[in-house]
Amino acid sequence: MGLDDDAREYHRADPPGKIEIETTKPTNTQRDLSLAYSPGVAAPCRDIAEDAGAAFEYTAKGNLVAVVSNGSAVLGLGDIGAQASKPVMEGKGVLFKRFADIDVFDIELDIEAVDPFCDAVAAMEPTFGGINLEDISAPACFEIEEQLRERMDIPVFHDDQHGTAIISGAALINAADIVDKELSDLQIVFSGAGASAIATARFYVSLGAKRDNITMCDSSGIITEKRAETDGINEYKREFARDVDGGDLADALEGADVFVGLSIGGIVSQEMVRSMAENPIIFAMANPDPEITYPDAKAARDDTVIMATGRSDYPNMVNNVLGFPFLFRGALDVRAREINEEMKAAAAAALAELARKDVPDAVVKAYGDDPLQFGPDYVIPKPLDPRVLFEIAPKVAEAAMDSGVARTEIDIERYRERLEA
Ligand code: NAP
Ligand code: MG
Repeated sequence: MGLDDDAREYHRADPPGKIEIETTKPTNTQRDLSLAYSPGVAAPCRDIAEDAGAAFEYTAKGNLVAVVSNGSAVLGLGDIGAQASKPVMEGKGVLFKRFADIDVFDIELDIEAVDPFCDAVAAMEPTFGGINLEDISAPACFEIEEQLRERMDIPVFHDDQHGTAIISGAALINAADIVDKELSDLQIVFSGAGASAIATARFYVSLGAKRDNITMCDSSGIITEKRAETDGINEYKREFARDVDGGDLADALEGADVFVGLSIGGIVSQEMVRSMAENPIIFAMANPDPEITYPDAKAARDDTVIMATGRSDYPNMVNNVLGFPFLFRGALDVRAREINEEMKAAAAAALAELARKDVPDAVVKAYGDDPLQFGPDYVIPKPLDPRVLFEIAPKVAEAAMDSGVARTEIDIERYRERLEA
């Protein structure tokens, strides 16, 4: 297990872990110290006491995000608990820093129940400019995010829900365009009805898909209205219950335009792919093994199959790192009170648009021989494309201002230029 041991070594190397704190102001003289701390520090304190908004000017709040987890649904590892989740949360902090220069405190809370968890997070509002909830199991994650969005006046964003929704949403916009189908006509089948599937289905509806055209399957098959009445089905699944006879995933897929897999690997056969409508769109995003592999899906039919997975070794990798750094960058830079539907839609539209532009040589080189030209094998930008920062964040900031959740107005053109520099 080369990778496992390498990863242990990577984390163990002195100093242990992946992050440290650095100071940003001079600390060389006695005077520097009396500015940084007592007695000088009293002046900004008094100003903030008078006007809480001054915290954005005098403290790191405006560039600081909490990555918060209770370790109840960590990667594919399951409920490994708060302490064991810490390498993942530090890692999320690394990605925030690397892709958007956002600082992160990772906060692992040993709390399972919804209300006390929310109390703890809500009480941290003074410290942070935003909250990224991470790896919290469904359906508690829906309740937690709803409650915190209600209670807090800074963005609260559960990345496992919305990251996938936004990035695969961008892929869907482009894929539908390539196969010349309207979002509102697409028959969409979901495999999985957990954190990411529910949020993704909701997001597709907000992009223009019809709720009545969505069929959702969980581990017991199609979620029907009948099952919703009889089974102990949670309210989030019930939102997508269909008035049909029931059946399994294979039944659901017959004639479908789109398959969205957010469940487990290997459950879709080539036969099932052949039963889909012409030029099918297949997003098989279970990690690490997709519902069907890229080569198997492509080989199943002679017409165009637009295929995305969560993997880096095939085209169209749906990777959350294309989303959260830039959503938070844009949100923080207008001191947004929340990340709302308008901002998420703006991010998806901007990602979709970026994939249609010519790709700089440096990006092509970074990905080997892939031609990276808009088409079935390139419907979303690559994670290491540096343009993502200045193409996405300004659209998010603009959407925040237009939808009235920004605390400050900024000049978007100048902001874009600053990010690009
Ligand atoms: P989750 O909340 O645990 O949900 C998993 C869902 O899969 C549940 O609804 C479960 O059904 C369902 N499921 C399990 N076995 C199934 C089967 N045989 N047929 C149909 N559905 C089945 O997990 P999640 O966070 O949404 O993530 C789900 C998967 O998507 C994971 O593999 C994750 O790695 C992947 N994912 C990928 C990306 C990405 O590529 N960017 C992003 C997010 C998630 P029950 O409700 O009946 O238990
Ligand atoms: Mg996660």
